Amino acid sequence: MPSETLRLRIAVQKSGRLADRSLELISGAGLRVMKGANELLYRIENQPIDLLRVRDDDIPTFVADGVAELGIVGYNVLAEHFPEDDLEERIVMRLGFGKCTLKIAVPDSVSYEGPLSLEGKRIATSYPNILGKWLKDRGVSATIVEMRGAVEVAPRMKIAHAICDLVSTGATLEANGMKAVDLVLASEAVLIKAPHAPPADLAHVYDMLLRRFDGVTASNGAKYVMLNAPREHLNEIIELIPGADAPTIMPLAGREDTVAVHAVCQENVFWDTLDKLKAAGASAILVLPIEKMMK
Ligand code: ATP
Ligand code: ZN
Repeated sequence: MPSETLRLRIAVQKSGRLADRSLELISGAGLRVMKGANELLYRIENQPIDLLRVRDDDIPTFVADGVAELGIVGYNVLAEHFPEDDLEERIVMRLGFGKCTLKIAVPDSVSYEGPLSLEGKRIATSYPNILGKWLKDRGVSATIVEMRGAVEVAPRMKIAHAICDLVSTGATLEANGMKAVDLVLASEAVLIKAPHAPPADLAHVYDMLLRRFDGVTASNGAKYVMLNAPREHLNEIIELIPGADAPTIMPLAGREDTVAVHAVCQENVFWDTLDKLKAAGASAILVLPIEKMMK
């Protein structure tokens, strides 16, 4: 029997907050996922790639050990695993989803005047390494109480004075009578890579994958804007287009005083911006979604 051909592995969260968006990125890159009988490993039908589906906490180690060549994980999880390392060496790209912040929170009734307010206090967290480093950098000595979950109930249960936990909307904190008072870490999903290069036979697949992930990530939320602008207000109008670099300027047939402007905007374009463009003299404004982009 011929031996199984080499396949690349991407470690992804099996279920949870990053799972769906990770799969979207993967299918956005043109990979067809076969959800087979094997729950741990999904095959990609049209490329020599498998998805290793695990708990997010296992992803940094699997990728560092080369069990998977690539992985998609929260920056917070990566930073907690390798508190002393230069994380940029492990990160291939930031993915723009799974955004959240690790914050210090205290009960509503407690006043907070900066990190020194935590001196001698007990702080509950699932991120002892990140918090320990943050406190040390600020010259604060406090007791870290490690909890796996339900960190937000710690003050009420008199387990801790403060907590350090992930926050996205603040609703959970509010429901527990607490307020966020300081930022420890801003996080989003990141693509990480193994320390060694991929097997030579798979180098082209690996490179293609990175190029496509970059394309999908770059086009996320990006818009294509087309409008007509009077020449005399051209600079002003270009400045109003959010995150546009090097727009294309084209003459309009039979209109000496007006040009067409086409630009890729890296950010969302809101009605407010359209109003300003209109007020500056732009007309025939179109904002189109971008499906794919390769730089
Ligand atoms: P697993 O079962 O894989 O261990 P988990 O319970 O540890 O999952 P999830 O709650 O699914 O993790 O969160 C995964 C990641 O999603 C977090 O590590 C973080 O990077 C990101 N995230 C985005 N928003 C939030 C939020 N509001 N709360 C927690 N995590 C968030
Ligand atoms: Zn986890």
